[in-house]
Amino acid sequence: MSDQTVSARLEALRNKINDYNYQYYVLDDPSVPDSEYDRQMQALQALEAQHPELITPDSPSQKVGGEPLGAFEQVEHEVPMLSLDNGFEDEALSAFEKRLQDRLKSSDVLSYSCEPKLDGLAVSILYENGSLVQAATRGDGRVGENITANVRTIGNVPLKLRGEAVPERIEVRGEVFMPRDGFAKLNDAQRQAGLKIFANPRNAAAGSLRQLDSRITAKRPLMFYAYSLGVVAPDSFRLPESHHERLQQLAEWGIPLCPDIATATGAQGCLDYYQQILSRRDALAYDIDGVVFKVDAIALQQQLGFVARAPRWAIAQKFPAQEEITTLLDVEFQV
Ligand code: NAD
Repeated sequence: MSDQTVSARLEALRNKINDYNYQYYVLDDPSVPDSEYDRQMQALQALEAQHPELITPDSPSQKVGGEPLGAFEQVEHEVPMLSLDNGFEDEALSAFEKRLQDRLKSSDVLSYSCEPKLDGLAVSILYENGSLVQAATRGDGRVGENITANVRTIGNVPLKLRGEAVPERIEVRGEVFMPRDGFAKLNDAQRQAGLKIFANPRNAAAGSLRQLDSRITAKRPLMFYAYSLGVVAPDSFRLPESHHERLQQLAEWGIPLCPDIATATGAQGCLDYYQQILSRRDALAYDIDGVVFKVDAIALQQQLGFVARAPRWAIAQKFPAQEEITTLLDVEFQV
């Protein structure tokens, strides 16, 4: 490809992905299945990898999420809320572990926190002296939307942390999602009332959480599971040394965790977890689009650090797209 053709192709891909992002993140109304989005993003990343001199800071490959919606007050995240790198093929996990070992200059087998990749919205919840004071969407990772009134209505989000020994300030990060049974009931009720049917639980969760009237959110069957921490103050507050133990500490304070979180050793342990969750995918109470593996030792996470839009110490291993499977089944049933 000539330089001009490459530039034109990059621009076309970026424009297309920017449109998809706007429809998905801002309007909560995606125009293409996630698998199609992922294909376009991979095409952009591959072309940028071949022509790194043409990467622009505003390329969607360098950015997280979408702009916050103007209707809500804005919240600046003290620690950016990032995305996750994706691995697609089977060898991605061993390649991921090899990259980490190279960077850490050690051949030690690593321990990982293994977590279902819940298909909802990333949310940050701030507690001061144990009380919930603020909740925000991820937005573009730097600035999100203030959705405190809405998050306060979610049944399993504690308004007060349990116990005395809580930090002065602690930011709990996790996913707001709609369990499958609640989603089915909501759509039945919408249908009966002649209202809009939601395309999938993620879409219903996004539409429910970003309501300007929190009384509507309160009627929607939303749930929250925590998966990480943001700001913790004071600096002297002692937290456990591993990600998994930190999550258990959150649970002791009354914060809900996904019951299917586990730990594993090495890439093979992660692959076993992947297979195990994939085989149970249809039986889970909630939608997932893959699993996430995070280096468990916080000291190693700090050593590994971040790239532009994602931590180096975590990877999302996506499952085959459900929309595509559904489309295939539809075709089979028609013939
Ligand atoms: P991502 O979904 O690939 O991964 C990051 C997100 O994973 C986090 O923000 C968090 O919300 C979520 N997550 C769930 N469980 C987690 C856990 N245990 N630990 C950490 N994070 C966890 O990245 P993204 O930037 O949110 O979105 C990109 C994806 O969204 C695309 O790959 C695509 O599937 C979808 N998308 C689709 C369209 C479309 O038009 N269909 C548009 C934009 C994005």
